[in-house]
Amino acid sequence: MEYQGKRVTVMGLGGFGGGVGAVRFLAARGARVTIADLCDESELAESLAAVSDLPISAIHLGEHRTADFSNAEMIVASPAVPRANRFLNIGRDAGAVITSEMTLFWKHNRGKVVAVTGSNGKSTTAALIHALLTADGRRCHLGGNIGHSLLPIVAEIASDDVVVLELSSFQLEDLAPLHPQPDVAVVTNFTPNHLDRHGTLEAYRQAKQNIVAWQRSDQLAILNADDADIMQWPTPARRLMVSAQPHDSPGIYRDGDDAVYFDGCATQRFPLAQWLPLPGAHNFQNALAAAGCAISLGASLTAVEAGLKSFQALPHRLQLVADIDGRRFYDDSIATTPESVAAALQAFTAPIILLAGGYDKEIDLTDFARLIGTRCKAIALLGQTGERLQACLQAEESAADFQHCGNLEEAVRWCHTRATKGDVVLLSPGCASYDWFRDFRERGNAFSTLVNNCPGCKAG
Ligand code: ADP
Repeated sequence: MEYQGKRVTVMGLGGFGGGVGAVRFLAARGARVTIADLCDESELAESLAAVSDLPISAIHLGEHRTADFSNAEMIVASPAVPRANRFLNIGRDAGAVITSEMTLFWKHNRGKVVAVTGSNGKSTTAALIHALLTADGRRCHLGGNIGHSLLPIVAEIASDDVVVLELSSFQLEDLAPLHPQPDVAVVTNFTPNHLDRHGTLEAYRQAKQNIVAWQRSDQLAILNADDADIMQWPTPARRLMVSAQPHDSPGIYRDGDDAVYFDGCATQRFPLAQWLPLPGAHNFQNALAAAGCAISLGASLTAVEAGLKSFQALPHRLQLVADIDGRRFYDDSIATTPESVAAALQAFTAPIILLAGGYDKEIDLTDFARLIGTRCKAIALLGQTGERLQACLQAEESAADFQHCGNLEEAVRWCHTRATKGDVVLLSPGCASYDWFRDFRERGNAFSTLVNNCPGCKAG
């Protein structure tokens, strides 16, 4: 009866913010829900359809109304909304409780939580953990920043179920005062990202650190020992290290093509490279963390093997979308940071024709330009950062062939003219997509459609 009749404003309905999940959860419990979103009806069509069967008190789109915040008893804000937002302040001053879909989930969930964060590799690692535990016969749910909100089904989650949550830095901002904390926290890596939203590197780091900072000593933190920044993060939890080299402390380590799991007493060795169907050293690292997590939760090596062998690459993550006369086209549209592009470039030995650039998140691009200018045969430059990257490549006198393109179609055509048999054409932009596309999915889908339908690009 906690929410019966309560005046709740859900601020932000679209994307992965969990707005739809929050509306479904609250409306089902009798709350009087108002939806407030700056986007218009067409932009939110999918999300609005997903709540169209529910009794909603009001839907206010396009601009915010003060009364939706000053009259609310509770405001469920999308993680994309900065906590100092003017309308949240209006609500706060009027006595509303400010919360989020993820905070509500934490409050009501009874399952064991594995929380995964990091600057890159969160989705892959979370999906791998889910696959390995499922292969071990555990009832396991995957949510957070991946798939659908788990809030509407929270009451069905039993105490021995495992909930694997991919958490963005935005979703971690609110975690500090929360109890309980993750039973297992996994941090893949840490690099500057989302500085446009968090303001400073320190604020971004602080949000991420919340995942381990408030754990108990009987909980587990799985940390990337090769990341000097993460190794400084304080946590009361037991630590399990993940590293590309063997160490003496409890952890899971790469030893050639094998993984070695060391719990402090005994070791288990298994042929991870042979079991893992994903390319690249970064995916080996993600699989190490996932296997370490699953084994520490009691999974057998047989389950780890079965789960890895049947795992399929997530869409838009180094996904092979076409092979045209020996020229392979990969969609890595999810790569919105220079580090993920570096990881993608390392996954191949073939010459690479790269499509890079996009929305400008105001990070320094010098090193990124140097990296791609050195490794790639040719580079099609996209979007707002395309010009900045072009200037850097010119200043570096890069040997790569590069061209600033006015749209994705032009870029795909240009890449076709540069690619020869045996080459890899890789969409791994290193930047967000918001300048040309709604999100990375739309960008990746557009790439794959263009690649597969470009007249004159077939046989060559
Ligand atoms: P996230 O959920 O953090 O965005 P994903 O698993 O979806 O991470 O992968 C996103 C991008 O990051 C992909 O381009 C992938 O190649 C790259 N990536 C994945 N894992 C790692 C890693 N461990 N280190 C660096 N880059 C990675």
